[in-house]
Amino acid sequence: MAPQKNFDLAIIGGGIAGLTLAIALQHRGIKVSIYEQAHKFGEIGAGVSFSPNAVQAMKLCHDGIYESFEKVCTRNQWSSKRQVWFDYLDAYGEEGEQLERGKHAFTITNSLGQNGVHRATFLDELVKLVPDGTANFGKRLKSLEQNDAGKCVMEFEDGTTAQADAVIGCDGIKSKTRQLMHGLDHPCAHPTYTHKYAYRGVVPMKQAIESIGEERAQNSCMHMGPDGHVLTFPVNHGQTLNIVAFRTTDKPWVNSDKLTAPAHREDALKDFAGYSNDVMGLLKLTNENLDVWAIFDLRINPPPSYTKGRVAIVGDAAHATSPHHGAGAGLCIEDAAVMAELLADEAVKNSNDVEAVFSTFNEVRKERGEFLMQSSQRIGDTYEWRAEGIGRDFKKVEHEINWRNAAIGDVDVPDMCKQARSKLKQKLLA
Ligand SMILES: Cc1cc2nc3c(=O)[nH]c(=O)nc-3n(C[C@H](O)[C@H](O)[C@H](O)COP(=O)(O)OP(=O)(O)OC[C@H]3O[C@@H](n4cnc5c(N)ncnc54)[C@H](O)[C@@H]3O)c2cc1C
Repeated sequence: MAPQKNFDLAIIGGGIAGLTLAIALQHRGIKVSIYEQAHKFGEIGAGVSFSPNAVQAMKLCHDGIYESFEKVCTRNQWSSKRQVWFDYLDAYGEEGEQLERGKHAFTITNSLGQNGVHRATFLDELVKLVPDGTANFGKRLKSLEQNDAGKCVMEFEDGTTAQADAVIGCDGIKSKTRQLMHGLDHPCAHPTYTHKYAYRGVVPMKQAIESIGEERAQNSCMHMGPDGHVLTFPVNHGQTLNIVAFRTTDKPWVNSDKLTAPAHREDALKDFAGYSNDVMGLLKLTNENLDVWAIFDLRINPPPSYTKGRVAIVGDAAHATSPHHGAGAGLCIEDAAVMAELLADEAVKNSNDVEAVFSTFNEVRKERGEFLMQSSQRIGDTYEWRAEGIGRDFKKVEHEINWRNAAIGDVDVPDMCKQARSKLKQKLLA
């Protein structure tokens, strides 16, 4: 598309936030370059699922993103469960009870049901929408200056530099952009351990069915227990079952520089001893050598602002959340939609207006980012019967999930963008 604006932007990081933002901007005629530290785009081989707000945001960013998602997304395999987000199962029973099968507690539905994609496959599809020459690899951001000429000068670890009129950090939970924006000494420079960790695995569907039967293997389930929960949903068009097994601990994480550590299947089995045979059967199918993921977030120390001058942060860089709502990546895409719509607004005439765009973005996105982080931790505790005032009362658990999911998923993203644009116009036309 021919350039619609006379300024150019740099995006740091090419994960889901960076790629969806770059695609959304390019399709609005805004010049953008991506600087990614890795030597190619890449995601891990696990699943990620999207709530209804995320799917609206995909369409708004660019139809191609939504089409890519539809191409690779896997829904619950039974048509009777198409609107089921998760069947919630009591996987532990009363104290000391060993359950053969988890007991169905309740079902949570939404307008789209469960939508799982294999991360790497989805990313591969997104990459096809990024024109050649957009991405620069092996570029790990080291420093960032805003000079008197109004340019942002980026320096990378390989000694090279680049300039742009504005920079958007999409560099994830350990964002360098956030650190440079607020200083290394600011608490938000370092995410905090949530005291939950997760084993992740993908197992062939055939084996999963042999272990837990068709209904539970082919459709999304949340197995609940004390201080732990295990979620499963089908990916790869039903060929594979994605498993994430969370535990809460009071111990510190071994090394806060690394979010993963090597573990064994035996560790997972030990952690979930006493859980239903469904849970134990699934864990036995995972690889002998597993990675365990520490769940960090920015809930306790959120960044005071998502912008400073001509630099902004988007996605996990701004609001890295624990994954219990299944909405972190969805919020990245929502951010991308809002940011792209603001930058493309006809009131934005030149690079001087970008600061107003970024400050509007900060005003309209911060509360939602912070709500997601808080709510995600609360909902994770709710699944594990740890939430104060709720415990193992399944009626209350169900109610808590329903209202919180609605706050995240049942929103009108086009209207959100419209409101943001009208706020921006007020600012620019004042
Ligand atoms: C266990 C788990 C399960 C989850 N499940 C879900 C789910 O089901 N649904 C959902 O919506 N969300 C889920 N999430 C959250 C989701 O994964 C994240 O919100 C999302 O991937 C963040 O995307 P991002 O692009 O902001 O960051 P990232 O994916 O972290 O991408 C950041 C990119 O920036 C690059 N980068 C970093 N530093 C630099 C630098 N200095 N210079 C240049 N490049 C740099 C990185 O290499 C990377 O490519 C889950 C998270 C976890 C941990």
